[in-house]
Amino acid sequence: MTNLDMDGPYKLDASTVRQRVQGGLPGNFAVGHLDNGKRFAVQYVGRHDADVLSGLMAALKAGVGKPGLTDRLFGSKPKANAFKFSYAADQRAAFEKQCRNYHDFNGSGSLENPSHPAAPAGSGLNCPLCGA
Ligand SMILES: [Zn+2]
Repeated sequence: MTNLDMDGPYKLDASTVRQRVQGGLPGNFAVGHLDNGKRFAVQYVGRHDADVLSGLMAALKAGVGKPGLTDRLFGSKPKANAFKFSYAADQRAAFEKQCRNYHDFNGSGSLENPSHPAAPAGSGLNCPLCGA
């Protein structure tokens, strides 16, 4: 059973993000949508090593989870409308959790993450699951 181990889901908009998420703490987040059964379906997993609030705001600004033109034409992908998040003790915990989330939810490349999470610069950390 895969589990994000995060709080939420909450509505994906700037004011809800600012209201729910405290700045200045490392952490993890997931962007996705609520399916017909109102379950949270993950589309993207992210983290920020120092400030999960700014990580989420950056993802929002970048349009993470918004269908591309092809998807809009053919209606194959739902638009992201919800997020979950959690705080992490430090950048190592945030990185390792993002790796677990990535491997847990990227079956058949279903996430919109373009590639495997990158370790914090200069940390020398490796993914605990695949060693990347
Ligand atoms: Zn990995």
